[in-house]
Amino acid sequence: MAITVKTVRRRPEAESSYVRATLKGMALTFQHLFQKKWTMEYPEQTAAPDWKLSGRWRGTHRMAVTETGKAKCVACGLCPQVCPANCIRLIPGEDEQGNRYPLVYEIDEFRCVFCGYCQEVCPEEAIHVGVHYQNAEYSRSAFVYDLERLMQQTHPVSTLWDPSDPKGQ
Ligand code: SF4
Ligand code: SF4
Repeated sequence: MAITVKTVRRRPEAESSYVRATLKGMALTFQHLFQKKWTMEYPEQTAAPDWKLSGRWRGTHRMAVTETGKAKCVACGLCPQVCPANCIRLIPGEDEQGNRYPLVYEIDEFRCVFCGYCQEVCPEEAIHVGVHYQNAEYSRSAFVYDLERLMQQTHPVSTLWDPSDPKGQ
């Protein structure tokens, strides 16, 4: 393939003006002073009616429970298998009737990348990422949520991304 050279014509100095460009930039900035503000102050404005997270926000997990108060998880092993961060620890157990349940179920929220795959893959709709973000802790170990803690979470669960409704309307 032949090599070609493209000649770029620069504007003569007389036609370009840094002053004009600077004034245009300042005019644009000035316009924004009178437009609606899209940023809000945290935590001062968290009580304001406009302060809300999208239903598709993916935050701290929540384990659904049955009517009898047990975890809905049947320890199928799909979520630790699909987790890209390898942050779910599951040790399955089985009762006398052959029903599987999690002996140990932990999620390290510090390693989690909040992809939502665990929620998507779960056949029991047991594990969910939640619409929640105020989860600061003082130690790394406190970010490892065990089954009991996951079951105690009460925040709303994420609706994730629906391909038939890409804008979430
Ligand atoms: S949201 Fe993603 S990274 Fe986090 S526990 Fe679930 S599958 Fe793993
Ligand atoms: S995918 Fe659901 S049922 Fe299976 S181990 Fe994970 S939480 Fe339990």
